[in-house]
Amino acid sequence: HSSIEYKHEVIEYDPNIHIFSFERSIIQDIDKAMDNHELFIVYQPKIGSNKAIIGAEALLRWNHPTQGFISPAVFIPALEENGKITDVTDWIIEQVCHEMGNWIVNHYPLKAVSINIPGQYITSPRLMDVLKNSVSKYKIDSHFLELEITETSVINNIENAINSIGEFRKYGFRVALDDFGTGLSSLSYLKRLPITTVKIDKSFVDGVPESEKDSAIIKAIIVLCHSLNMDVIIEGVETEAQVNFLSQMPEKPGIQGYYYSPPLKREDLAKWVQHFQEQQETMSQK
Ligand code: C2E
Ligand code: MG
Ligand code: MG
Ligand code: MG
Repeated sequence: HSSIEYKHEVIEYDPNIHIFSFERSIIQDIDKAMDNHELFIVYQPKIGSNKAIIGAEALLRWNHPTQGFISPAVFIPALEENGKITDVTDWIIEQVCHEMGNWIVNHYPLKAVSINIPGQYITSPRLMDVLKNSVSKYKIDSHFLELEITETSVINNIENAINSIGEFRKYGFRVALDDFGTGLSSLSYLKRLPITTVKIDKSFVDGVPESEKDSAIIKAIIVLCHSLNMDVIIEGVETEAQVNFLSQMPEKPGIQGYYYSPPLKREDLAKWVQHFQEQQETMSQK
């Protein structure tokens, strides 16, 4: 077994190797980035089956002073690799809860937010402390906070992950399984993890409604998750045809995607929410 690993390490050509060294160099700047407002959070709205706003996903952005905008798909894996991701996640939780606290005071119609939690941090007692402290500091009902985890991130630590998710649930936090369908043994995770929500990966909705296979698969996953009493969000919905297809489901899923809105800065989110609600009102008056 070890010789296979050895071969794998030595022989396999990794085309990402130069990118990784770029990532490593910029990751040095991450502490400064948090202090200097180069790192900020954007919010992507999620729309419920009744066409009401059900919440938003918090997503990280980095406007680097010399490199410009760097995609989270690039810098998050580097932060995970050097361990800085835990500090950054604490910072995100604090920022998001602060923002949610403002929303409550201002009777803002958007209440629930989900935060992406890296796999290596899920089972840490420190995470639970940070979550508890932040919700109590900003007087937030824990039901309004959802933690997004991916199946691949818990694959090596499944028993501990089940325990930690159970703890989050006991405290009232919701837990979503993100990118569902891209990992390996999806169905066993649905059975074993005590989650509240399943987010079906964009790759399943891409072919809808043209592809009969994709359409059949997405429909079956929606039915399955609903019969397991889980909420369903379809990620990456971009077209009206996709929205129409999903509206015809016997039990409609929630939707997150560019069709409704890209992730937005907080000022733009406020404008979007107002506009969306005005639109809904005009439509219901017709
Ligand atoms: P994710 O958690 O699955 O987030 C959804 C990604 O899909 C976001 O990309 C979002 O902008 C994108 N997306 C949403 N709707 C559409 C659509 O209709 N079309 C297309 N093409 N894309 C859409 P983003 O923000 O670039 O983030 C990529 C990934 O990076 C995230 O995937 C997540 O795994 C990670 N990430 C982002 N922010 C954070 C964070 O704050 N913490 C952690 N740990 N990971 C994060
Ligand atoms: Mg996510
Ligand atoms: Mg996702
Ligand atoms: Mg993803």
